[in-house]
Amino acid sequence: MIIDLRHLNLAADTFVKDKQEVIDIDLEGELPQTKTELESLIREESYPYSNGDKIEFLPLPGLNSPQELSSSLKAVEAVAKTGKFTSGPYVNLLEKELESFYKVSTCVATSSGTDALMIALKAVGVGVGDEVIIPPNSFAATENAVFAVGAKPVFVNIDFSYNLDVSEIKLALTSKTKAIIPVCLYGSARNIEEICDFGKANNLPVIVDAAQCFGIGSLADMAEIVCLSFNPFKNLGAFGKSGALLTHHQEYAHQARQFSYHGFREGEKNVKSMDWGFNSRMDNLQAAVLLAKLEYFSRNALKRCYLAHKYLRGLDLLQNRNKIKLPLETRDNTWHLFPIWLEEGEVSDMISYAKSKNVELDIYYPSLGHEYQTQYAASFSPTGYSLQQSEHIHGKLIHLPLYNHMSLEQQDKIISVVRAYFKL
Ligand SMILES: *Cc1c(COP(=O)(O)O)cnc(C)c1O
Repeated sequence: MIIDLRHLNLAADTFVKDKQEVIDIDLEGELPQTKTELESLIREESYPYSNGDKIEFLPLPGLNSPQELSSSLKAVEAVAKTGKFTSGPYVNLLEKELESFYKVSTCVATSSGTDALMIALKAVGVGVGDEVIIPPNSFAATENAVFAVGAKPVFVNIDFSYNLDVSEIKLALTSKTKAIIPVCLYGSARNIEEICDFGKANNLPVIVDAAQCFGIGSLADMAEIVCLSFNPFKNLGAFGKSGALLTHHQEYAHQARQFSYHGFREGEKNVKSMDWGFNSRMDNLQAAVLLAKLEYFSRNALKRCYLAHKYLRGLDLLQNRNKIKLPLETRDNTWHLFPIWLEEGEVSDMISYAKSKNVELDIYYPSLGHEYQTQYAASFSPTGYSLQQSEHIHGKLIHLPLYNHMSLEQQDKIISVVRAYFKL
């Protein structure tokens, strides 16, 4: 079972009811029902930590709980014995599972989130010389997918949602604009609905880069295409690279299937019906691991939301004293990362301070798209349009550790170090 984070409304306000110790939703099955149960689940599954240990931003051996590891290894063994490493039955099963969760007609499981984005762009007809609107603060995959299909990424300012500022998109439209890719960075789906409305009003397909926000079902209702990533660092991670694309749109679905595998006609073996296609189907091995890990997704999502809620409460004082800004979106959020924005102090200074206290903080993507030392970035200067707003927002952004199996003690330490930096 996958719980929909939209219905869950898990973040801040839910847990504020902790006097009653009741999670204000109807959780079925084996999920914890109370705050006490949830805390003991976190204790049971958390990555070992004892006071004084260095706290890494993301300890890789802690990506999978012992149960996740053993279920996934069983899946690996089952696939290995059949020899069906690449195409095989689990791919289709996973697609069906994701279609039913997102209530879409089509899921195409892909070999990465980047490939899902490239396929999505091809499926909506983006090609050489076209322009695609993206925010400048995303992972390189977003702009690289645009480059890979021969088009140009056009950067539009972000706002404090860390997503595209809807009111600025119109400033960047030209006759060559063919699509918009908003990115749900750090897990927040804020602004997506408005961006999709803008896309519809302007006849531009919206492809949501949802690599960091698996679990928000409503995205698939709003956008033409939603792209997911299951690389090991995401909220739901495979044992290697993989991703998926979701759509309601029949023609895009048809195109995407063909582009995902050598341009072969759907349902026919080795018969091409288009000039070319990528070799980008998800491996059966990764699909089997993901099906095993899906069983744990809902409780991990609950744990993450609870940890985010504890950050929000633990750092609220700093926001009230105008030292930091906390994330705006506390509901439609999968909490892939926990960003804070410094009203006071400097990012590098705070990182060194935390390091001296054995806590690793991070600037997830240090450069904005137009700031790289690349030919394209050097030439990117839309006339009369400034990306200063993005530079201002991005320049004061810092991320606190947040992962599925983080322990409560680790988090308490991080909160106290952040507060100590501001002497509060
Ligand atoms: C991870 C990520 C991707 C790419 O996903 P891969 O599966 O690693 O190719 C794209 N966009 C964003 C915002 C991401 O975080």
